[in-house]
Amino acid sequence: MSMAEVPNMYDVIVLGAWIVGSSAAYQSQKSELRTLLLEQFALGHENGSSHGGSRVIRHQYGSLSEYADWMPEAYLEWEHLEQASGEKLLNRTGGTSLFSKGQSIESDLKNLRSNGVPHAVLTREKAMIKYPMMTFGPEIENVLEESAMGALYADKCLRVIVEQFIARGGVLKVGNPVISIDENRENGVITIETEKESFTGEKLIICAGTWINRLLEPLGKTLDVKITKITICYWRETDESRKIPTTQFHCDANMFLIPEMEHEGCVKFLLHHGHEIEDPEDSKRTDQERRVSIKQDIDCLQEAVKQKFPFLHPEPEFIDHCLYTVSPDNHFVLDKLPGFENIVVGSAFSGHGFKMAPVTGKLLKQLAMGEPVKYNLSKMKIQRLLVPV
Ligand SMILES: Cc1cc2nc3c(=O)[nH]c(=O)nc-3n(C[C@H](O)[C@H](O)[C@H](O)COP(=O)(O)OP(=O)(O)OC[C@H]3O[C@@H](n4cnc5c(N)ncnc54)[C@H](O)[C@@H]3O)c2cc1C
Repeated sequence: MSMAEVPNMYDVIVLGAWIVGSSAAYQSQKSELRTLLLEQFALGHENGSSHGGSRVIRHQYGSLSEYADWMPEAYLEWEHLEQASGEKLLNRTGGTSLFSKGQSIESDLKNLRSNGVPHAVLTREKAMIKYPMMTFGPEIENVLEESAMGALYADKCLRVIVEQFIARGGVLKVGNPVISIDENRENGVITIETEKESFTGEKLIICAGTWINRLLEPLGKTLDVKITKITICYWRETDESRKIPTTQFHCDANMFLIPEMEHEGCVKFLLHHGHEIEDPEDSKRTDQERRVSIKQDIDCLQEAVKQKFPFLHPEPEFIDHCLYTVSPDNHFVLDKLPGFENIVVGSAFSGHGFKMAPVTGKLLKQLAMGEPVKYNLSKMKIQRLLVPV
């Protein structure tokens, strides 16, 4: 019996079926590799980093310019998925980035110019005329417009990627937590034990989000990453004729805004930082200390909304939470796991990993299969975050 005929033997096993893992599985199956995708919860669950109805997509990336280079391909990948599924995944709302006095706009401009992305820079005075639904305080110096900026229908993106994976013959097992990983030292075969079954594979791609260290620890490694709990608030519009573009605030609070996509008639705001928690399962804790931290985040958003958006209702109507896995330098981890021939890790997406997930998935598949990659991944090496256990 050849390897391909061994029951439960796959070319590639992907651990974690939210946006990055599903993308890696989809790209592997698309390359005609027999692929298994394993998830501990139900598909689209709300315990990790990917749930919710929207995520910002844009080309400008400031000083993290490596990722700006992936963005033209990311847009193409999402468009291919739209064509394949017949569903709208990208909401091209147009977007603005607000820079306060003294803040450099140069890296973002360089990102846009080097990738040929149409854009414009407005002074505060011009922005006030063009966007009367926002108040531009005296602290704002430049407003960078990018017409391709917008938001992805996040929940729909996952569903479409998984449907495309399955349509190509991929195997998905949900409600199936992985409890152990082993790589045979002689033949390199990976054995995965879940609570229900065991599987073997030639390659393993681990995309476990905030659970990463739980899986790596038994393999003798952990990553120096923090789990942070992010607060998201939705404010109701009081004048629906004044449609707000997707907006990134580099001024006062480091904040994002996405126009109505989830709750009808409501605009979404979130801070790009949160409060550290020890463990993903710990995220539902609501003790006094946690309540105070969350209130501080809501107050911070509320103050910014009050100052900048006079046409929104004064109080948030809905509040939600989601988790980031953050590296000290905000770079991802995309690399082979040292000491293992056939295990690749995708981690530390640091609150910016959704928009390019189909590209990240392709890169993880290429790293697993030993294929050439076309981007410079030197800042995404795992070694920089490895902590021995
Ligand atoms: C509030 C918020 C807003 C954001 N906004 C943006 C944005 O605008 N633009 C952007 O690009 N990015 C954004 N991000 C970041 C982006 O959403 C994340 O980087 C991305 O979702 C990470 O996906 P992931 O697949 O790595 O992790 P996850 O979504 O956490 O998925 C990991 C999966 O692994 C599974 N798993 C873990 N352990 C096991 C096990 N033992 N067995 C089986 N399965 C297991 C988990 O159940 C989970 O499904 C945002 C994040 C948050 C929280």
